[in-house]
Amino acid sequence: MERITEINAMNQRAEMVRRQGRTIGLVPTMGFLHQGHLSLVRMAKAACDFVVVSIFVNPTQFAPGEDLEDYPRDLERDEALLKAEGVDVVFFPSPLAMYPQGSSTTVSVGEEMTRRLCGQSRPTHFNGVTTVVAKLFHMVKPHQAFFGQKDAQQLSIVRKMVRDLNFDLEVVSGPIVREEDGLALSSRNVYLSEAERREALVLSRSLAFAREMVAKGTRDSEEIILGMRSLVEKAASARVDYIAIVDPVDLKPLERIEETALVALAVYVGKTRLIDNWLMEEKNVAHHV
Ligand code: AMP
Repeated sequence: MERITEINAMNQRAEMVRRQGRTIGLVPTMGFLHQGHLSLVRMAKAACDFVVVSIFVNPTQFAPGEDLEDYPRDLERDEALLKAEGVDVVFFPSPLAMYPQGSSTTVSVGEEMTRRLCGQSRPTHFNGVTTVVAKLFHMVKPHQAFFGQKDAQQLSIVRKMVRDLNFDLEVVSGPIVREEDGLALSSRNVYLSEAERREALVLSRSLAFAREMVAKGTRDSEEIILGMRSLVEKAASARVDYIAIVDPVDLKPLERIEETALVALAVYVGKTRLIDNWLMEEKNVAHHV
């Protein structure tokens, strides 16, 4: 496995692979890898000839006061994990290489999508995400880029950017990987104390509760959201940031669950903000009606 830190070198490597007629798969990450990341790497390996995993803790998607400095990092361990998966390149650019002095251009899909859900408490976050993802697409030139359903809003926004800006690549999503007890894997789970780790289960439990309500025929979003909220609030250390039921493509709120819907929530458990979601596909609703 090759480690590339220079953008020129990444560009040249990507050009060479493309000239050879081989397909490139990109898995963008912020490192401190877990099985959620590795499941995307395996999807990329299965679908593409040449797999690049980027590790970049992107400063522009953190607001002042968020956890940029504290964000967990372990490049050595990450590289060992990626090597074992047969990854071709780990792309590890420095913040200065990514954002040289004077760099000022940003990419935004617009407030309609970036100010909802997580964008209410993190209004600048998704512009940082789309800017760095657009840059990574130019640097790595992937045929396919792999993103987790775990970050459902990010996925919808990246898909929108790819459509709006005519990126010639396919966005592929992978399912949420969870701990055995239901907690969605996240690099930020290391922030949780033992007691908070137990209480963090309210996220996945409230989604299971929503699933049950839908299975029993409830279609009214507000009723489902209220039920979820009261379940989350039973945990002493939990504070709801938002619970929402939206269209997964444009993220607009749905009053009723009729076809496909995204049930998404963010909850502070102690000081740690966790997110989780359930993407309800049309076929499941039809099945329950
Ligand atoms: P991050 O390093 O947190 O920026 O995540 C990098 C990629 O891994 C994103 O596309 C995430 O959606 C994805 N990811 C993170 N956690 C999970 C998970 N538990 N299951 C599946 N994908 C995940």
